[in-house]
Amino acid sequence: MIASVYIKNGNIHFYNENRRFTDIGGIAYELGRPLLDFICYEHDRFDEAFTLYAEAFENEFAYTAVREPEFISSVKESARNMQQREVYIYFYHQMLMEFIYDFVDSPRTAIERLEKLLSGAYDRLSWTVDFEWPVPVSPFVQVALYADKEKRLFRAAMDVVALMSEDLKAAQSAVIYEIELLLALREQVDIPINSPMEYLYQLEANNKIRSGHYFFLDNPFRVFYGVTKPPEIAELYEINMIKDLIRFEFMKMIEHDIFIKKCKNCERYFIPRGRADAEYCSRIFGENGRKCSDFIYMLNQAACDRQILAKQLGISPHQLSYVTHANSGEGLLFFGDTIIPFVDRGFDKNGEIYQLLNT
Ligand SMILES: [Zn+2]
Repeated sequence: MIASVYIKNGNIHFYNENRRFTDIGGIAYELGRPLLDFICYEHDRFDEAFTLYAEAFENEFAYTAVREPEFISSVKESARNMQQREVYIYFYHQMLMEFIYDFVDSPRTAIERLEKLLSGAYDRLSWTVDFEWPVPVSPFVQVALYADKEKRLFRAAMDVVALMSEDLKAAQSAVIYEIELLLALREQVDIPINSPMEYLYQLEANNKIRSGHYFFLDNPFRVFYGVTKPPEIAELYEINMIKDLIRFEFMKMIEHDIFIKKCKNCERYFIPRGRADAEYCSRIFGENGRKCSDFIYMLNQAACDRQILAKQLGISPHQLSYVTHANSGEGLLFFGDTIIPFVDRGFDKNGEIYQLLNT
């Protein structure tokens, strides 16, 4: 088990687990936010950061240095920082650090434990599975510290980083596949409002045909009751690996009607805030400091703002005329990099979009 979670007031909460070196208990995030951050996380950033962690062990005496209190507190510190920003990446960090500490006790135990979280670990690390750290013959005899000339801890850590990187990529692709399918379903399939779990049924029907088994519903979660912070009883779900957390959060998002969409301007994934029908994200786009979601408001900018905005966005005077003297139902449409003036005489003046554009 890597964690236990529960959902409350639209947030995903982590239960107090008291792990050996790190603890994520008592932390809550807006449901959907961790999964969104996870799919947007860049592989290169992951490889770079974790290679740096592994390189910290490139030393003949690293296996003993990790037991120093200063080192342990620095591990805890970086784990705490990561918990606040990148929950899924935090669990990869936890996986690596627990492997390190298991490995300095017994490489075999470390590898066997890791195999349960990361398939392929046993094969990848088979070169060191039978290695045992030398122990002093007698506790009363002071002997010179064993020098790990082969730097086994460092090489094992590098192998784990490589495995985690492959796992991250595979997990991201699996989630993105489901998100894309869900987006298509929401466009094409007529599912009554108030029964969002119908989407999960549709996704799983597809998974069953495609791979022969369910992605979300196989391996059901163990549920138990626990005392949370502040003290109250909550129904908790046991999370055994990162893939479980992905399945859990994805299902709970559907159940709570929270959907990841693709921005029509920058094509990155986002979760609509406030309005479920939003088509644009609120990330900064381009060099002018504007958000994707600002583009739609451009139709109603004050005159001088329009000139500045036009310059920043590279709009021609002809195109600008559609905004400057725009009557109702005239304006500019943005399709990625292309800007198209439009005049729509048949715009429904009682429609909701019309009302929104003219407020
Ligand atoms: Zn965007």
